[in-house]
Amino acid sequence: MYSKDEIINILSSNDDSILKTADEIRKQYVGEDVHLRGLIEFSNYCNRTCYYCGLRYENKNIQRYRLTPEDIIATAKYAKNIGLKTIVLQAGEDVCFSNNILCNIIEQIKKLDVALTLSIGEKTYDEYKSFKDAGVDRYLLRIETTDKTLYNALHPNMSFENRIECLYNLKSLGFETGTGSLVGLPNQTIESLANDILFFKTLDADMIGIGPFIPHPCTPLGDSDVDLKKNFDLSIKVMAITRILLKNINIPATTAMETLNPNGQIIALQSGANVIMPNITNDECKKKYTIYPNKQNQDIILAKEKIYSIGRAISVNKGFRSK
Ligand code: SF4
Repeated sequence: MYSKDEIINILSSNDDSILKTADEIRKQYVGEDVHLRGLIEFSNYCNRTCYYCGLRYENKNIQRYRLTPEDIIATAKYAKNIGLKTIVLQAGEDVCFSNNILCNIIEQIKKLDVALTLSIGEKTYDEYKSFKDAGVDRYLLRIETTDKTLYNALHPNMSFENRIECLYNLKSLGFETGTGSLVGLPNQTIESLANDILFFKTLDADMIGIGPFIPHPCTPLGDSDVDLKKNFDLSIKVMAITRILLKNINIPATTAMETLNPNGQIIALQSGANVIMPNITNDECKKKYTIYPNKQNQDIILAKEKIYSIGRAISVNKGFRSK
């Protein structure tokens, strides 16, 4: 267990040996298999206006789309037919998908005998419970930053306390709970990144997704002067330390990492990651799910090639957190 000061020192130094240590811990605790999770981005409507995100409702330079329940279920069937064991349903906070509609979709997908992850933002305890009762296995809700001042500055009309409460509600309801951070945000300190990692440990998160911050031109942070290479390197290190501290959790090699570095996901897989999320949304729609610019949507064939190229295997199970 690293202390906060030790984490700050690792993140501040040019020494990358931590990446190899994370790779060894990954191998020891979760093995060589990489889990593929089929991602369906079913709506890019969102009633929030987070400062870094291209889906924010104030962005008028985006073509909005919403898949029908039939489209979503058909895509899930396709995922099942090509051998994917987990389906991830992700969307902005779109009020048009009522609980009833969502629970119907969930129940249909669960009949396919796949693990199901939801990533649709903040909901009430009762709404989360209804998803659990309908069969959802996992829920992703990134904290984005544990720096409360920074969180509040980036998330108008949202509450840091509610975000935390949502995460603990998800844990208490028995979801495998995923969270994570953006790395390299303006005004984000190394100390706050260390706090993020310690928060993941305190929550005992089951999945952690780390994304380097990439400014989207149609957002208030679009003109941010950021060093994208530094953001990439730092996000890999945050991920590696997370692997070392939380050991047996699932950690994706994120598409944001691939967007900043053509070998980003391979580097991530060799620095603690054990999951890739190929995007199986139809081509027209996935182009419009622009949280950040130039998003490298992960193609399933390429994902498999990458995994085999580094001598790793593709998991044949649903990939729950190993206990
Ligand atoms: S980060 Fe999520 S909640 Fe915030 S605007 Fe983007 S899609 Fe909506």
